[in-house]
Amino acid sequence: MESLLKNLKEHVTCSICLDTYTERKTITCLHTFCCECLERHALTRQKQGFYPCPDCQAQIRIPEGNCFENLPNSFRHNSLLSLLAVQYSGDGNDISCSKCQKKNAEINYCFDCEKFMCPDCANAHEVFRDTLFQRHKVTPVRQFQPTDYEALLKRQSFCTVKYHEKEVTKFFCSECQSCVCQVCIATDHKSHDVVPFAKAADVEKAIIIARTKLLKDKKELCQGVVREFEKTEVELEANITTAKRKVSQTVEEVMGKLRQLEHEAITALEGARVSRVQKLLSGKESIVSLKKQLDQAFKFSNNLAERSSNPDIVQN
Ligand SMILES: [Zn+2]
Ligand SMILES: [Zn+2]
Ligand SMILES: [Zn+2]
Ligand SMILES: [Zn+2]
Ligand SMILES: [Zn+2]
Ligand SMILES: [Zn+2]
Repeated sequence: MESLLKNLKEHVTCSICLDTYTERKTITCLHTFCCECLERHALTRQKQGFYPCPDCQAQIRIPEGNCFENLPNSFRHNSLLSLLAVQYSGDGNDISCSKCQKKNAEINYCFDCEKFMCPDCANAHEVFRDTLFQRHKVTPVRQFQPTDYEALLKRQSFCTVKYHEKEVTKFFCSECQSCVCQVCIATDHKSHDVVPFAKAADVEKAIIIARTKLLKDKKELCQGVVREFEKTEVELEANITTAKRKVSQTVEEVMGKLRQLEHEAITALEGARVSRVQKLLSGKESIVSLKKQLDQAFKFSNNLAERSSNPDIVQN
């Protein structure tokens, strides 16, 4: 309760205009907005008769004939708004008297009439205390205790239909999906299936429990599928890592073999080079010595030829 009082402003603030609700409307996901804000949002974001809830993104059906005024308003918010008014009053802000509409900081609240009253209207209420308002509990809002806030929060709701404002809504019309009063039952909802709140709540509760179970089952199913995906993902990661390692290993092995072959080929080539060079050198040496011998022989035969053509030299 205390945290509720603390966060009251948040509970009665429209998430579209960020202001306190004006003509609040509650949609099927149980989120509440100002009627005008909701209509503007829904009509700009609609797709094939549905629009996303601004708070939870649930797909909500556009009301028949675009009549957003016919959407239900939330009793909880009715009470919360009254609480907010009391809080503001406690802070020095004025709130309107439910009877004469005059604003006054010294406002009182009658828990039996469920109305705010200015000092004048409270005095008038006092005049009839012995007759009409016996045992009515009237408290100045500045003196509200936590129990008073709670009582205000739990107060009954009155019918919003024109001329029914004094009738408490205690029934639910399943055909119109709206809360109705005794007068509504006798007039606009005459042939409709109308049940007391408690019964409607029991039926809705059973439906909600069944749907919750269904959702829980679906959620478990989804979680199972997600787990399978996660397992596959882990396996895939492991397989890819192993494959990468094997590729690297194979490349290393092939490179090792290639390096070995390179080494062997270079060694063989070097061996061939050395033996060829040695052969070439020894061949060159043989040729050089042969050339020397030939030179000498040539010289000698030349000398012989010179001597034979000159007899003087031969005689000497
Ligand atoms: Zn708004
Ligand atoms: Zn929602
Ligand atoms: Zn008054
Ligand atoms: Zn009263
Ligand atoms: Zn009514
Ligand atoms: Zn109805």
